[in-house]
Amino acid sequence: MVTHLDWSGPEHWNRGRRKTCRICRKPSYLLDDAGRAAHKACIEDAVTNRRHLKAITSGPRSERTTA
Ligand SMILES: [Zn+2]
Repeated sequence: MVTHLDWSGPEHWNRGRRKTCRICRKPSYLLDDAGRAAHKACIEDAVTNRRHLKAITSGPRSERTTA
């Protein structure tokens, strides 16, 4: 199953400035939900595979394993 995100909103457009995608380390014009540079496809892939899900959804509800 593949995740498809809706990044049509202005909050996902970095006004023509390119920053390094935090997933693949290549320049991207787009921003993720946290306002950090990333490609839409990279985030979709990350969410699909749940590899970087914690980093993407970092917030008060972030999962943390207590030892
Ligand atoms: Zn990328």
